[in-house]
Amino acid sequence: MAKKTKKKSKLEEKLTRKEKLVWDKLSKKEKNATFKFSQDYKVFLAKAKTEREAVVEIIDFAQNNGFKPIEKVKGAKPGTRIYITNRKKNIALIVLGTEPVENGMNIIASHIDAPRLDLKQNPLYEDEDTKLALFKTHYYGGIKKYQWVNQPLAVHGCVVRGDGSATDIIIGEDPDDPAFTVTDLEPHLYHKKQAKRKLPEGIKGEELNVLVGSVPIEDDDAKVKVKLWVLNHLNEKYGIIEEDFTTAELEIVPAGMPRDIGFDRSMIGAYGQDDRICAYASMVAIASLKKPKKTSIALFFDKEEIGSEGNTAVRSRFLENLVGELIELSNPDYRDSVLRRALSRSKALSSDVTGAVNPNFKDVHEIKNAPKVGYGLVITKFTGTGGKYSSNDANAEYIGELRRLFNKNKIPWQTGELGKVDEGGGGTIAKFLAEHNMEVVDCGPALISLHAPFEISSKADLYATYQGYKVFYKN
Ligand SMILES: [Zn+2]
Repeated sequence: MAKKTKKKSKLEEKLTRKEKLVWDKLSKKEKNATFKFSQDYKVFLAKAKTEREAVVEIIDFAQNNGFKPIEKVKGAKPGTRIYITNRKKNIALIVLGTEPVENGMNIIASHIDAPRLDLKQNPLYEDEDTKLALFKTHYYGGIKKYQWVNQPLAVHGCVVRGDGSATDIIIGEDPDDPAFTVTDLEPHLYHKKQAKRKLPEGIKGEELNVLVGSVPIEDDDAKVKVKLWVLNHLNEKYGIIEEDFTTAELEIVPAGMPRDIGFDRSMIGAYGQDDRICAYASMVAIASLKKPKKTSIALFFDKEEIGSEGNTAVRSRFLENLVGELIELSNPDYRDSVLRRALSRSKALSSDVTGAVNPNFKDVHEIKNAPKVGYGLVITKFTGTGGKYSSNDANAEYIGELRRLFNKNKIPWQTGELGKVDEGGGGTIAKFLAEHNMEVVDCGPALISLHAPFEISSKADLYATYQGYKVFYKN
């Protein structure tokens, strides 16, 4: 009779690849560190709901961790900590290395904008029949419009007044604040028309109007009294008039705080985790450096969600300009070729999230190649759509370097792709970084419900991301 054995095949052990759930491998100490890190991340998320607010939080963190604005930096000593901002929506944190910048830099680049509803330039109106006041919006980035109705929303942003002075506005986050909402049609009346629409049209763009008031102002001569009540209130509180909306950037975002998800509190549910989870992890990782070999940079870009156009996005000259500034600190008469060499010898992580397998919709993924929450940092060789079109397809040699680095340092990692072949697609800033001829690959955690008003991440993946970014910089 054959002996019963529980032994694994040695050959299988040696040759096959297995992905392991991060939680299985964490010691008690590591679990505690994971939960502690997640608490701090939630505080950041709660305060950084827009790209402008993210920049404010990053500057605050940078100043508390010894980073100085470049204008105040003299000379280029290894370990010098610098930050450079661009129009309040784009920022870079830098730690100078022991090697010259010309030898190349270690760069981690994330984005700090997130899908939302932007107010139009003439947003406020009073509906004639219902006497309700509303804001017109134009959605920003890839949203499923029906997800934005029937929930408390907040207004965040800035208004530039006629005299050029500006004011920041946040309404809807304090429990005593009023909130706002987009109203949907009730089930009793939706069968004949709305129920027949296809899902993307369930709520149409011009139906994303935000409810902001219903009380008429006490002014017998006024024609649109409910609208005027709102305008008068805004004028008393912020000193603004209707024309000031034309010079404002006001964003409608989900109101409320990040939450732990699950009985075991192992996940986080919050707005804007794409891509502030990477922004936060890279911000804390770069602050852990003392004197790295390579000059290390954490970049935080705006406008990724609408194609990285505009002067606060990765496609502006911000990166080239800042690298020029860094070289100039030690070499004021440098030639253009020095700048080009510095960029093309650099290594970058396009630190962005990817869509994790959702147990309710598994069939859009090819499960052997799909990323899952709880399995660590995801290296995504290519994104794009329809035959890798419009994607940065990272070099095997570069991914090989990361593989060795992560394995050596016991960083949990997995591979990822966006979905089944020809199922859909998307892109990140990787291809724009590659235009500088640097090595770059997408590398960040996977989220469930990507781009929803409430996105889900795993605390284990967040911590793995932070640890992975740290060893990348220290390399
Ligand atoms: Zn993203």
